[in-house]
Amino acid sequence: MSEDVETTLRSPRAYALARQAVEAMETHKVWPTALNFELWVHYLTSAKDSPLAAQIEGLIDTGEPFTDSVGESLAAQFLPKAKLDGEILEAGENLSKELDSVSRAIEIARETSEAYGQQLAAAGESLDGQDTGAIKEMVETLTQATRKIREENQALEGQLADTTQELARMREHLEQVRRDAMTDALTGLCNRKAFDEALERLAGDAQTKGEPLTLAVLDIDHFKNFNDTWGHQTGDQVIRFVSSVIARSSSGARFAARYGGEEFAIIFPGEPARNAMAVLEAIREEVSSRLLKRRSTNEDLGAITISSGLAERRQNEGTGSLIERADGALYASKRGGRNRTSCADPITTTRAA
Ligand code: C2E
Repeated sequence: MSEDVETTLRSPRAYALARQAVEAMETHKVWPTALNFELWVHYLTSAKDSPLAAQIEGLIDTGEPFTDSVGESLAAQFLPKAKLDGEILEAGENLSKELDSVSRAIEIARETSEAYGQQLAAAGESLDGQDTGAIKEMVETLTQATRKIREENQALEGQLADTTQELARMREHLEQVRRDAMTDALTGLCNRKAFDEALERLAGDAQTKGEPLTLAVLDIDHFKNFNDTWGHQTGDQVIRFVSSVIARSSSGARFAARYGGEEFAIIFPGEPARNAMAVLEAIREEVSSRLLKRRSTNEDLGAITISSGLAERRQNEGTGSLIERADGALYASKRGGRNRTSCADPITTTRAA
């Protein structure tokens, strides 16, 4: 939490502020989760014209539901802890690089000192039999000094082995933090940040290797109506269900992510649009053929459908343009009546009867 909020929460105003936050959340039908509570406390203590206030008031004005995904997205933008995850990630990567270079430097120093010792010993031997008493004495002294250095180096190596173990533990921990910061908590898929990075990297590889790459964006049809009718918790279960179907279809080099609230994306490295089209159609069919139940009451929720759009990367095309074309194809699917898959180039659509 920011210093302002922290100070307020440790003052006599704290209970009043907490009550105010809970009441405001109840008024606007926001679930009292820890994350939502933190967001609303921040909102109530932030300036009237702060970006967080503008976004929350915008949601209130439009009556848009405050779903878990909306909360997560606001938290990532405005809560210091979520921002911190990004910073930890970066710091972790830098630390790992630093430690690698320190380990390499120590290894080089050790090898140099060993080679130096061997050279001295060889020089001493080559002087044997010659009347060079003073030189031999000097070499002897240097050899002893070198032996001492080697002993010290051995002790250093022992310490280094301990440190290396500690580093491995730290790296493991940082890797876990990194994985968490790249994963969407609701679905276990990669999150938007991971997707942005992967798309840049994989598009760069495709350009270098001259291989195809296809991007697909998927969206659950009429999700807002669904949420309004059945509630956010059931809405979240639907997001989890669609994610699980997407994850099952995205093995190997394919990269699936939750792009936003009810939007997903799949990157198909090395695959042309026609492969991706077949996969998206299989996902669409599997999702729409399942009859879901509301777990709390066992009521039938009926089937849900998804619309998708895909675009195959053109030579030299940037990721912004690729995303725009895939989005355009998604909107073609929506305009065409939903529950269908469209390809950007050329726009063709297929759908079940
Ligand atoms: P989950 O509840 O954690 O379930 C994970 C997986 O366990 C499901 O993957 C499914 O393979 C199995 N499973 C769980 N409950 C049942 C069940 O009652 N019958 C059968 N035959 N299998 C079950 P799946 O199907 O891919 O679903 C992934 C997630 O999607 C579920 O996670 C849940 O969050 C959501 N979901 C799927 N179907 C429904 C549904 O009918 N109603 C609700 N509310 N959520 C659903």
